[in-house]
Amino acid sequence: MKAPRDPRRQIPSVDALLREPAFLHLIAHHGRTQVLACLRDVLHQARTQPATEGAISAQSCASHCAARLQALNQTALRPVFNLSGVVLHTNLGRSPLPATAIEAVTRAMAQPITLEYDLDTGSRGKRDQSVESLLQTLTGAEAALVVNNNAAAVFLALNTLASGRETLVSRGELVEIGGSFRIPDILRRAGTTLVEVGTTNRTHLADYEAALTPATAVLMKVHASNYRIQGYTCAVDEAALAPLAHRHGLPLITDLGSGSLIDLEHHGLPHEPTPREKLAQGADLVTFSGDKLLGGPQAGLIVGRKAWVEPLRRNPLKRALRAGKMTLAALEAVLRLYLHPEAIAHELPTLRLLTRSAADIQEQAERLLPPVRTALGVRCHVEIVAVTSQMGSGSLPTEGIQSHALKIGSRDAQALARAFRALPIPVIGRVHDGSLYLDLRCLDPDRERAFLDQLALPPMGSAS
Ligand SMILES: *Cc1c(COP(=O)(O)O)cnc(C)c1O
Repeated sequence: MKAPRDPRRQIPSVDALLREPAFLHLIAHHGRTQVLACLRDVLHQARTQPATEGAISAQSCASHCAARLQALNQTALRPVFNLSGVVLHTNLGRSPLPATAIEAVTRAMAQPITLEYDLDTGSRGKRDQSVESLLQTLTGAEAALVVNNNAAAVFLALNTLASGRETLVSRGELVEIGGSFRIPDILRRAGTTLVEVGTTNRTHLADYEAALTPATAVLMKVHASNYRIQGYTCAVDEAALAPLAHRHGLPLITDLGSGSLIDLEHHGLPHEPTPREKLAQGADLVTFSGDKLLGGPQAGLIVGRKAWVEPLRRNPLKRALRAGKMTLAALEAVLRLYLHPEAIAHELPTLRLLTRSAADIQEQAERLLPPVRTALGVRCHVEIVAVTSQMGSGSLPTEGIQSHALKIGSRDAQALARAFRALPIPVIGRVHDGSLYLDLRCLDPDRERAFLDQLALPPMGSAS
């Protein structure tokens, strides 16, 4: 009897394959280099893997290559629907930017700009000039500067003002933010010695006083941004701490974290301290993020007294931590919106999302319920439920904002969540108690159509 032919012997040659119409099509699209590399990979795999199916056809090689090339060429930073209920989601890029900022960034990318150039003198200017005067106006600060993010802002401030000496921080404020930012670690890396003051729940002015030594360089306050200490508590605020610092000729630094530039209470949200308030209370430097409540690009903003800001500007590390031109362009555009506070809740996407009323979101949920039910079929139970959204990025941790979600019950909620994430524009929800919740706060009504259209596509078909 004739032994069956080893199918691996029937693999066509690279040259022959590349002349096939399917491959010519791939080459036209992806270029010869990528297609060749991919084809070699696919053929290598076919040769080394046990041959179970029959001969490898040119067609199957081409479809393997097409799938791989498509995956390879898909951008890794994919747009998604953030229906997680966390508005400023660090893993999803925090603040969406307003159109004016996007235009400013596009201009800054395409053309030379006066990034560090003084048009009057025709010579070198100050990099942060464009945003410094805006920050002065918006916070009442004497001086301002911008670095890569708030972690860099804290690091630069401490490295400049407290390296080789001591920094006093209350035990109740030794926070960790998002796992990779811990106040004690940043202090150590900035070269300053942490002196813990008071206890976890109660710290008094006398505790700071007792901790002062000739080696003390900085008194630091950290805004408890992602947790609350409740019950029998006591903390010393900037107004009480500043006179002590100033009596000893020392700066008081406040790491505010989120730092809204406006009074959120005017917009129906809980109060969040502003840099202006902290400076007025006596803080010498306040640091905060550009992409949290401010609603701008990733950046670290430092505002405060000129005498303390200038040494930071001269620290060689400022160069290593400085913001790029795209960041500065976006930040300037966002800060300009704050000059017109009456329009800000409408113009600034972050604030627009945070201030959407529960009634508005409920209406949207009622609009979406019938088509979502139809798309998911009888195996899923879809209903509208009241939920609370979180601001995220550590702002207002205990105060939720009233919202509405589509609650989707199915046999396997994790599988359903995966199916939603496998959509062309992945939908990020939240699984809780065996159901998938899609909080609609961040579903822009303009994007509803796009959200619904893709629910009819394959990944959802196999869901539930
Ligand atoms: C978020 C936060 C930081 C870190 O800010 P990034 O901009 O993420 O670097 C530091 N301190 C506090 C109190 C924060 O809330």
